[in-house]
Amino acid sequence: MRVSVLPFLAALTVLPALPSFAQRPANELGRVMILEYHKIDHPEGRWTRTPANFRADLRRLWEKGYRLVALTDLLDGKIDVPTGMTPVVLTFDDSSPGQFRYVEKNGAVEVDPDSAVGILEAFAREHPEFGLKATFYVLPAADPPNRLFNQPAHEERKLRYLVSRGFEIGNHTLWHANLSHYGEETVRKQLAQAQERIQRHVPGYRPRTLALPMGAYPRDIGWAVRGSINGTSYQHDAILMVSGGAAPSPFSKSFDPLRLHRIQALERELSSWLGYFDKHPEARFVSDGDPLTVAVPRRKKDEVKTPLPQGLRIVEHD
Ligand SMILES: [Zn+2]
Repeated sequence: MRVSVLPFLAALTVLPALPSFAQRPANELGRVMILEYHKIDHPEGRWTRTPANFRADLRRLWEKGYRLVALTDLLDGKIDVPTGMTPVVLTFDDSSPGQFRYVEKNGAVEVDPDSAVGILEAFAREHPEFGLKATFYVLPAADPPNRLFNQPAHEERKLRYLVSRGFEIGNHTLWHANLSHYGEETVRKQLAQAQERIQRHVPGYRPRTLALPMGAYPRDIGWAVRGSINGTSYQHDAILMVSGGAAPSPFSKSFDPLRLHRIQALERELSSWLGYFDKHPEARFVSDGDPLTVAVPRRKKDEVKTPLPQGLRIVEHD
């Protein structure tokens, strides 16, 4: 009996291959989703994704061939995902407690497995190729519960932990100020002082990106891009909006890092974009697996933004 079963089992291990992402034509001019999460908590709502739904989002992204990249790597054109895969960026706004919580277990403090950080880490352990990347747009001086994840005793430990794990911290102003309401000095103080507060916990850390509270630009965008006030200098290489859909490829002429679109990661919007890219795979960024080349369909080569970042070259294909 045993003998006759073995060949059958062997045959089972050669399962029909899943649709092969590696066979899809590379298109590094395709669009990239920058997903925007707020609360990871209960119940599901306008600003809330439950832990279970957030896990399901990660699984859907994984199964559909998306892989995490850091926002700053996207900006720098360093997109290192396997052949046939699509980069995706995760962002979390407002440093609410469910994004990063510590819990005590057996006398030790550990990352809550139901907080966003815990969920991301567990998923990356099971699927190392998915990656472990996200940017947290924190509020260092907001009222509770949005002040640096709402566990005052652990603020420093959390910010340092994020950086040590390769996550990024972004500027979201001191306390969610609507920058369209203020003059130059207040806008600059909001940005510089938010950075100072972050650096108090993580010396020398420079937030490279800014997510605008409520998507509101100051009267002069230059105030938000770079500046210096009371001895603190800041510079933002990208400014993120709160909506707008999938972003253009960073290699495309239409990529504008100072007006970077995002997708709010709620069931309807996320499903709609995932469905769109299922139906229109040609619209999606598909990697050629080589981070040093930018693979583009020949008919689209005029859409490439030049010069490309240092060390990159275009590879055209039919
Ligand atoms: Zn916000």
